[in-house]
Amino acid sequence: MVEQADVVIAGARCAGAVAAATLARRGHHVIAVDPARFPSTTVSTHLLFAGGVAELARAGVLERVEKIGAPRLSRAFIGGPGHAAAGAFNPVDGFDYGMCVRRAPLDAALVETARDAGAEIREGHRVTGVLWENGRAVGVRVRDRSARDREEYEVRARLVVGADGRRSTIANLVGAQRPRLSHANGRACYYAYYDDPRQEWRATAAMWLTGRELGNAFPCDGGLSLVLLMPPAERAADFRGGVEAEFDRTVGMVPHLAERLEGCTRTTRVVSSAEHPSYFRRSAGPGWVLVGDAGHFKDPVTAQGIRDAVRFARLLGETVGDVLDDPAALDRATRAWERSRDAQCVLAYQWTNLLGRGDGLAYVQFQLLRALTEGPGGVRRVLDVYSRIRDPRETLALPGLIRATARALRHGAGARASVLRGAAGALLELAGHRREAERLLAAG
Ligand SMILES: Cc1cc2nc3c(=O)[nH]c(=O)nc-3n(C[C@H](O)[C@H](O)[C@H](O)COP(=O)(O)OP(=O)(O)OC[C@H]3O[C@@H](n4cnc5c(N)ncnc54)[C@H](O)[C@@H]3O)c2cc1C
Repeated sequence: MVEQADVVIAGARCAGAVAAATLARRGHHVIAVDPARFPSTTVSTHLLFAGGVAELARAGVLERVEKIGAPRLSRAFIGGPGHAAAGAFNPVDGFDYGMCVRRAPLDAALVETARDAGAEIREGHRVTGVLWENGRAVGVRVRDRSARDREEYEVRARLVVGADGRRSTIANLVGAQRPRLSHANGRACYYAYYDDPRQEWRATAAMWLTGRELGNAFPCDGGLSLVLLMPPAERAADFRGGVEAEFDRTVGMVPHLAERLEGCTRTTRVVSSAEHPSYFRRSAGPGWVLVGDAGHFKDPVTAQGIRDAVRFARLLGETVGDVLDDPAALDRATRAWERSRDAQCVLAYQWTNLLGRGDGLAYVQFQLLRALTEGPGGVRRVLDVYSRIRDPRETLALPGLIRATARALRHGAGARASVLRGAAGALLELAGHRREAERLLAAG
């Protein structure tokens, strides 16, 4: 069986559903397939800063997402030993709050929006192959997992979109699996949900840095709070020995987080992600394109993934919508979209990599955050970076890093050698950033 569409998309969560909705609204026949059935969850926490909320609005899904009932997070709190600072968001497109919506209802809202726009979303269907003609991707092979004979069918299309996540089948099949740029994660992720009756915290996204441990509590839908622990990556070995007990023990290692959770009850098991390297992949070629995590992933430490998946999926739809009938123009458009995505993301990627280091730099980061949140603009200024309306280099520049290192050493928080090693590693990274960015942008 062969079907014809204008665009075929592998994956129907943040990137796939938004690309499908954007293109369908422009009158194109879009088929998106996903082996998942919705609503269903995936391994991902789901904090959005004000910039992420603005992207949901731009993609036309915010109204539906708000109905899920997650509280508006109008304040952010940053704390640690001897320091606590709270502040509000500067608005992005008028949105001055963050949100934390569990992935099952969030992704279902995205899928419903794409369907309302006229896209066909096939649940329980997986892309297994790419069809090629004269070096150009012209469609995909799909397996219907519920069909008795498991027979495959083909969908031919002008554009094949890989929105199929970090282990992208499409990236593999087009030969783009190996990243252009990559960075190992310095922290692991463990998260669980708590029943949260603490009304005084319901509008606050909070983060505590204590020693090298990083703990977060983000109120979300369902009267719950998401508790996300990000210990240094090498501590994954401790969690492998018994993840539930180690999670509770680690909450105790961040005393202010433990205090925040007094009166709250953990209601779910712990979800783990020990390995999640960051990368940029080559993301555009003849007749194909990779969007969302399929093409680019940033460490969860700065919670930018959903924002970027939604933003660049919408921009992709807007960019290619008018040129689908002209293969040469289409390929130029996808390459330009890729270059623009890389240019808009590379500084955030490098800032994220520095914040994601779980080594002795953590002590320096704490002093840096302290200085920033006590300084002019306070927490708002830091939040601007998370909302992507301020250049991260303003908050993570060489002089500030040196001052924070001196302060960390003076305060004698961590072992001196570990602090110095962490700071030296960060300085080396910083020194290489410009060339790294130039290399990436030249490759596109
Ligand atoms: C531990 C962790 C915590 C995170 N926390 C946050 C956070 O707090 N805030 C934030 O903004 N981001 C966070 N992220 C990042 C965020 O999860 C991703 O950036 C986001 O999910 C990207 O959306 P996507 O649509 O590209 O990919 P995904 O959400 O991964 O969706 C890909 C879809 O493709 C489907 N698929 C796979 N293979 C095929 C195939 N062969 N054919 C068809 N479909 C296929 C899958 O079933 C899946 O449904 C986190 C990530 C991790 C790992």
